[in-house]
Amino acid sequence: MPALLRQLAGLGGCTHPIRLDGHRIEYDLNTRTGEIGNVLHHLDSSSLPAGHLLVRCNNRRTTRCAACAEVYRRDTFHLITSGLRGGKGVPERVAAHPRVFATFTAPSFGPVHNRPTGQAGSVRRCRCGTVHDQDDPALGTPLDPDTYDYEAAVLWNAHAGPLWRRFSTYLRREVAKRAGLAQRAFREHARVSFAKVAEYQKRGAVHFHAVIRIDGPEGGDTPPPAWATAELLTDAIRAAATAARVDGPVIDGRAHTFTFGRQLDVRTIRSA
Ligand SMILES: [Zn+2]
Ligand SMILES: [Zn+2]
Repeated sequence: MPALLRQLAGLGGCTHPIRLDGHRIEYDLNTRTGEIGNVLHHLDSSSLPAGHLLVRCNNRRTTRCAACAEVYRRDTFHLITSGLRGGKGVPERVAAHPRVFATFTAPSFGPVHNRPTGQAGSVRRCRCGTVHDQDDPALGTPLDPDTYDYEAAVLWNAHAGPLWRRFSTYLRREVAKRAGLAQRAFREHARVSFAKVAEYQKRGAVHFHAVIRIDGPEGGDTPPPAWATAELLTDAIRAAATAARVDGPVIDGRAHTFTFGRQLDVRTIRSA
């Protein structure tokens, strides 16, 4: 029992560990001659208390494994915050680089039940005439399921990744253009860095939040050029997000094309 507890303790609460079968042998190696010597350690998965070698599932979804998703959530937090204020191997100077926080939404596929908030956080009526409760399951569902564009809504999620990649290519181009630099010369002057997360909106559509930063040519270690400002970056993001589009499949004679929604929110991050 103590051995089993030790094995389980290493999983950090993972509820769906991966069970590995196999063995591992470590040999002594003579680094001078390259000769393999005696067996130092032998591990056979079947001899372990659980009968297998157990490793964390590392799933990012709380619904699959709450413990592993929490580790991922904390790692992401540190990754994002170190990109904002330095730390964890990132120099503190990045806090002085031009940075923005941007939100990219999906386009509309038809009206959905929502909970519009007015001044001072007051909740207004939905278009259906009801004031929806915060956890009303109707929120995000179509007002009219017969006219809601489900096909485009589903395809949007599948194309959001390629659309983001297109956007990031355009963004470098737009920043270079505003700096008066040719595409090829740009990387000798500056680098555009991202930290991006994808989330589901209530209506089930993927949207992105991103911290976007301009660094010097070697990244966070090098100062950004004098022309690099949050205003220039914001302007370039707006132009790149508007221009980005990805062609989807043709279904029943209908050609799908995907763009970001019109609601693009870009805010300057002003201090560490
Ligand atoms: Zn897990
Ligand atoms: Zn409603």
